[in-house]
Amino acid sequence: THSFKGRRVALFGLGGSGIATALALKEGGADVLAWDDNPDSVAKADGEGIPTGDLRAADWDRFASFVLSPGVPLTHPKPHWTVELARGAGVEIIGDVELFCRERTLRAPDAPFIAITGTNGKSTTTALTAHILKSAGRDAQMGGNIGRAVMTLDEPRRDRYYVVECSSYQIDLAPSIDPTAGVLLNLTPDHLDRHGTMQHYASIKERLVAGSDTAIIGVDDSYCLQIADRLERAGRHVIRISKRLSLTDGYFADGTNLMEAEHGRYSRVGFLEGIGSLRGQHNAQNALAAVAACLKVGLDLGEIQAGLESFPGLVHRMEQVGRKDHVLFVNDSKATNADAAAPALSSFPRIYWIAGGLPKEGGIESLRGNFSRIARAYLIGEAAPAFSATLGEAVPYEISGTLAAAVEHAARDAALDTGGEAVVLLSPACASFDQYKNFEVRGEAFRQAVHAIEGVTPIGG
Ligand code: ADP
Repeated sequence: THSFKGRRVALFGLGGSGIATALALKEGGADVLAWDDNPDSVAKADGEGIPTGDLRAADWDRFASFVLSPGVPLTHPKPHWTVELARGAGVEIIGDVELFCRERTLRAPDAPFIAITGTNGKSTTTALTAHILKSAGRDAQMGGNIGRAVMTLDEPRRDRYYVVECSSYQIDLAPSIDPTAGVLLNLTPDHLDRHGTMQHYASIKERLVAGSDTAIIGVDDSYCLQIADRLERAGRHVIRISKRLSLTDGYFADGTNLMEAEHGRYSRVGFLEGIGSLRGQHNAQNALAAVAACLKVGLDLGEIQAGLESFPGLVHRMEQVGRKDHVLFVNDSKATNADAAAPALSSFPRIYWIAGGLPKEGGIESLRGNFSRIARAYLIGEAAPAFSATLGEAVPYEISGTLAAAVEHAARDAALDTGGEAVVLLSPACASFDQYKNFEVRGEAFRQAVHAIEGVTPIGG
């Protein structure tokens, strides 16, 4: 990255993306000194020709910048020693998104740059936006918190479109973030353990849209609404989106229609009818944000609709994995708590629900409003006894124990359902660690079990 030419840069964190970041800095002519607590990572960096040295023993006054590579937590309960050394010496602390922003400013300030944040839906919106751009023939570069680390993306050029998912952490370390379109989807009190107060969490997220040429903000929660109002009062260009209100100005969802409002005059800009990968109200929010961002960077409505229709969806998030006659099999393994399971449970009318695993605090009480959609539940893992107590008389259930047994029994029962489309849904509302390495492995196990059922037509990968 040429914006650091001749500058002395300390870097901590030499995992895969840290090494890529260090190499990019070095190739751009920066004088890098890199370190990691893990000797194997240091050895690997040495092998790549990256200068390494123990930053504890370094002279910090000589550094212009300190780069924390992605994946090294800054907001730990106990700040890392490197952060304290940098702070003590008055050295700026930045992350890879900041490096990308400076590089873009220097080399191709016109390169369209869409940055996306929020509590939920970041990955879906980022993948969808990149997919629409790609399907319209644009050179879309997707990275950040999803996929590739930003410094491994192709170098900024005015005809390249960057779509970057940003965690709070990455925004915190990117003081000059300045996207063409900044998207703030929603803010709910998640992750507060890591970010202290909600106000602080919201103020970090606000920085992304405050630095944007155009701020695209979901106004369905009070925090985001306040941010939209504040930015507008400050004279910024704000585009409001809502999944449930008809706005006078902005974009909103009317059923499965995506609407644009201009001074109270409405026109349809797209639709989600029949698009399986974007079912559910929460996906209307994600789709509206993607549509608004793509319009901002110059796509036309036809290109955008084509991209919406061909979006394959993300694996393990309400992912359709197979069908047999009237039975649809959906993998929502990413739903590791009740809140995350709610969108899937409210998206289908007739559900054979596979749930359980390692229980989280609060259980599934908050899902009671969706119990009427559940034809029968199949409980697995350690949470089974607690979940069965909550389901009680309201929902018929069995304790299946394993995922394999649950899939077999749910498929058998759903096949006998005569009420239209029946969905066998894995949306566990639990962590996976009692039975699986992680939610991805659990989701793959579900996919394989479904594909092994006689007569099932696999969908997607
Ligand atoms: P993130 O990257 O922010 O974690 P994802 O796109 O990976 O979000 O979606 C994770 C889960 O969050 C999905 O399975 C879905 O249940 C839920 N979700 C997705 N989009 C939204 C949204 N806009 N609002 C609320 N929940 C959402």
